[in-house]
Amino acid sequence: ESADVVVLGAGPAGLVLGVLLHTAGIDCVVLERASRTHVQTRARAGFLAPNTVRILERHGLADGLHSSGRRHGTCEFRTEDGRFRLDYGALGNGGHHHVYPQQNLVTDLLTHYLAIGGRIRFHTEAVVVRDADGTQPYVTTREPDGRPARWTARYVAGCDGRHGAARRSLPPGAVRHHQHDHGVTWLGLLAEAPPSLDAVGYAIHARGFAGHMARTQDVTRYYLQWQRGTPADSWSEQRIWDELDARMRAEDHGPLRRGGLLERAVFDLTCDVVEPLRHGSLFLAGDAASLLAPAAAKGANLAVLEAEILAEALTGALVRGDTTGLDTYSDRCLAHIWRAQEFTGWMTRLLHATSDTSDRDDHGAGSFFLAALQRSRLNSLRTSRIHQDWFAENYVGV
Ligand code: FAD
Repeated sequence: ESADVVVLGAGPAGLVLGVLLHTAGIDCVVLERASRTHVQTRARAGFLAPNTVRILERHGLADGLHSSGRRHGTCEFRTEDGRFRLDYGALGNGGHHHVYPQQNLVTDLLTHYLAIGGRIRFHTEAVVVRDADGTQPYVTTREPDGRPARWTARYVAGCDGRHGAARRSLPPGAVRHHQHDHGVTWLGLLAEAPPSLDAVGYAIHARGFAGHMARTQDVTRYYLQWQRGTPADSWSEQRIWDELDARMRAEDHGPLRRGGLLERAVFDLTCDVVEPLRHGSLFLAGDAASLLAPAAAKGANLAVLEAEILAEALTGALVRGDTTGLDTYSDRCLAHIWRAQEFTGWMTRLLHATSDTSDRDDHGAGSFFLAALQRSRLNSLRTSRIHQDWFAENYVGV
């Protein structure tokens, strides 16, 4: 089988790209390894930046987030020096987030794509992209019935995440792969409980970081800094809630609203960037291009932005024969990616006293120096209007 553009993966990147290409009259197909139900129920991101909302609005994809998403513009830091709130929606350039669960966005995108006649194959796993630097690239797949198949294409868009086929297909030496480990591990939780505060909550505590992020009226995301290598199920629900209460300082600021834990996942705060985001006619977008630690909620927003840039570039090449957009795609996206990586790294150091090197004081204790830097950083954010404006602009920016 064939298509002018074969898109791998039906996450935010692949679906925005599919919608935009199909709307531009380009022959494309989306190949997705999982089932429709799986992609429509996978809970991940939830904070959409103003630029993401503008992109979705521009292409008629924002009805759902306007009808059931909520504007959000406050975060609350809880530290040993008390708590402080930043109304970031009223600081910096005045940008807000829209809280809209990623699975709802994916459902909207998919519904729209199918309604306009877009082609998608579920249960179809891309195995490898071949001849990306030749004249006839193709993707080998494992079809729903298990038999192998081949999709020929003029261009292939790798939107299949960090462990997808696109990255795997890059020949050694074709690109550079920059990786960084922030040295921290989080336990991500999804609780069947209403939000406990009307703000993103960041708790900095000697026992470790804890975070609170609203999702819907009935479901809330929590994060706990976690011992690397410890399985997600090694603590009881009771112990997890007690620990969240302790780190969020429930004694001082009120208890958390508890509920059953729907999901637990352990992930190391690692990040990476592939450079350039192109090998011949294979282009990478979203998590396949760059993985960000979730501390600053940038991943899904970058995925949507890159998909729009790539759609314009592919449309230029296929409709007008103008390949300038394809030639500049990587550099344009990398500028946004490194900016987002930088702020994510800064956020990680705001929330954790970490380092790649081991710092020791006279008494052999590890982290006094870094903890002092972190406290100073937080105090600056608490008191300096310029620092707050800088934070606000970067927090909602992509
Ligand atoms: P994905 O959404 O991962 O989609 C890739 C698709 O490719 C999947 O459907 C997968 O099944 C499919 N696939 C994989 N391999 C193959 C293959 N070989 N063949 C065919 N299909 C394949 N980001 C934010 O902006 N804000 C947040 O608040 C936020 N919170 C997060 C919280 C958590 C716990 C996590 C894990 C992530 C969070 N992120 C957040 C990051 C965000 O979810 C990702 O950056 C985003 O999903 C990337 O979109 P994508 O389309 O590139 O990839």
